[in-house]
Amino acid sequence: MKNQKLPSGTSASKIALCLPTPQYELEYFQGNGIFIKRDDLTGAALGGNKTRKAALFFEEAHRLGATCIVTYGSAHSNHCRVVANFARAQGLQCIVVTTDPESAGGNNRTLCRHFGVRFVICAQDKVKETLDASMDALYRAGERAYFIPGGGHGPLGTQSYIEAYEEIRAAGIPFDFIFFASGTGTTQAGLMLGQAMNAEKTAPRILGISIARNQERGVGAIKESLEAYQRTHHGALQQTAPIEFIDDLFPFGYGQWDEGILKTMDELLVRHGLPTDPVYTAKAYEGMRRYLIRERIQGARCLFLHTGSTPLFFDHLGELR
Ligand SMILES: *Cc1c(COP(=O)(O)O)cnc(C)c1O
Repeated sequence: MKNQKLPSGTSASKIALCLPTPQYELEYFQGNGIFIKRDDLTGAALGGNKTRKAALFFEEAHRLGATCIVTYGSAHSNHCRVVANFARAQGLQCIVVTTDPESAGGNNRTLCRHFGVRFVICAQDKVKETLDASMDALYRAGERAYFIPGGGHGPLGTQSYIEAYEEIRAAGIPFDFIFFASGTGTTQAGLMLGQAMNAEKTAPRILGISIARNQERGVGAIKESLEAYQRTHHGALQQTAPIEFIDDLFPFGYGQWDEGILKTMDELLVRHGLPTDPVYTAKAYEGMRRYLIRERIQGARCLFLHTGSTPLFFDHLGELR
């Protein structure tokens, strides 16, 4: 598919998001008030945390005069769908390096195809060199290729969640906890830095529910994100709260779930009309519930940050009983 030029007069430099995202009280659970922040409704490209992150990457790509975007992700990647949509909207070529075959399914993959992504498929241990080779080939062809790390990882991704934390703070509700699905650590690092920059007297505990990684790997990635951000901004090191990355609520890893997670997904849909998915957001929501029960927490004000994944909601809708 050939990219078209945008009509003149269209501002390609700034992607319109819908910020701040809605935040409201959702339910009581075991004596705790659960509020939700709808980052699934960030606006462009079907929303989610990848939309916040990608908006900042695309601002930089525009500043640098990029003609082409290169990124990495799986067939089910929310990140790839968002990047593909933004690239297409701005008339930029988009190349996705992936280890999944061209035929791999899911709504995110369908959307990527619709946006005209060129997939470069490689083995798991060849990702880095394939990305390098793709960038080189584009450079030699006279393109200005801009690389966006998988998942929207990196200081710009972190920055977008410093800004999200600011929205939470500005809404003025003194939460005891913020829960969310934590993957590569960018979202969590951003929230933690946003909090550290404010030096509030009473700050919520920021609890990432692991959707994949074990404690050691998860905490390591968050630490790296915190340090990478601080290096990039040459700032005085912000003293952040201890990293709380909860990996022991589920005895299984990425892309796996149990009946309890599907039951919660169904309940959120039926009672609140809220779309979640078993890979990220329903897993994290159910994780929050299990954590509150396990730790015997009562009378707390909790914020659940809904990180998106609408296409995966539709992927898995048929699995609900
Ligand atoms: C990518 C993703 C996450 C994890 O975000 P990180 O910043 O990588 O921790 C959580 N939820 C959804 C829906 C995602 O797509």
